[in-house]
Amino acid sequence: MKGREAVEKVLQVEGLSKNFGGVRAVDNLSFDVERGQICAIIGPNGSGKTTCINMITGVLEPTSGRVMFMDHDITPLSRPEISKLGITRTFQNLRLWNTLPVLDHVLASRCCRTEANFFSSVLGGKAAIEEERKNREFARELLNLVGLADMEDVLAPSLPYGQRRLLEIARALACEPVLLLLDEPAAGMSSAEIDDLIELIFKIRDRGISVVVIEHRMKLVMQASDKIVVLNYGQKIAEGTAEEIRCNEQVIEAYLGTAYSKEISEVCQQ
Ligand code: ADP
Ligand code: MG
Repeated sequence: MKGREAVEKVLQVEGLSKNFGGVRAVDNLSFDVERGQICAIIGPNGSGKTTCINMITGVLEPTSGRVMFMDHDITPLSRPEISKLGITRTFQNLRLWNTLPVLDHVLASRCCRTEANFFSSVLGGKAAIEEERKNREFARELLNLVGLADMEDVLAPSLPYGQRRLLEIARALACEPVLLLLDEPAAGMSSAEIDDLIELIFKIRDRGISVVVIEHRMKLVMQASDKIVVLNYGQKIAEGTAEEIRCNEQVIEAYLGTAYSKEISEVCQQ
């Protein structure tokens, strides 16, 4: 029987580092994410946020350190193996197919949870037909969750930018993750769209999914996260609640002179 402490930690990043030639993109980074927790990773451009997510999801091999997921060491596992275990992510740059309608995008992402094999699909066996029906039902439920229920037949590239980002989230949810990683989901969104995104992140958490969100938009970071991890030059310079991070001197200093310094100082004055 595992202790309560061990079971509640969904993700444990332990001393993770990544070197690219002479650049230490992530430097001895450690943090935990608990079940149902919303954790934001923030930091100026180039501070190692995306590299961190790439190591957690098996896109990049760490130079050193370990990633534990539900008490399993997943560091040596491949991307599909990690996805099957329950970690999925969205990308900073959208990855959508030009010729596929919205619903098909979500269906295509179901492959990591689909039982029917190629032959059963071709032969149209009862099990395959039933599975296809269930997949469609689930895909529609997810489109409804992200607010794209009326868009299922629309070709993905015709969606406005903010809605394309929501489609990316629906696709990631199609794999039924335990942990969802979002890389700058609010990029390019209006303030009203960010409000809806915050609501969506809460709904996702209410389904029992832990969320790690990389984000620059301070409105989302401060309102949505239970915990914030701050990176600068690959190192963790602060960790805590929004209240604790809000006016942390090191955090303000890290952002000075960047495109987001104004946003940080506005948050501090609230
Ligand atoms: P962030 O997501 O915080 O903006 P990144 O993780 O993308 O930062 O990048 C961290 C650092 O690592 C930067 O200096 C970046 O130039 C470098 N870097 C990221 N990916 C690669 C790569 N594939 N090859 C070489 N350097 C990289
Ligand atoms: Mg990035």
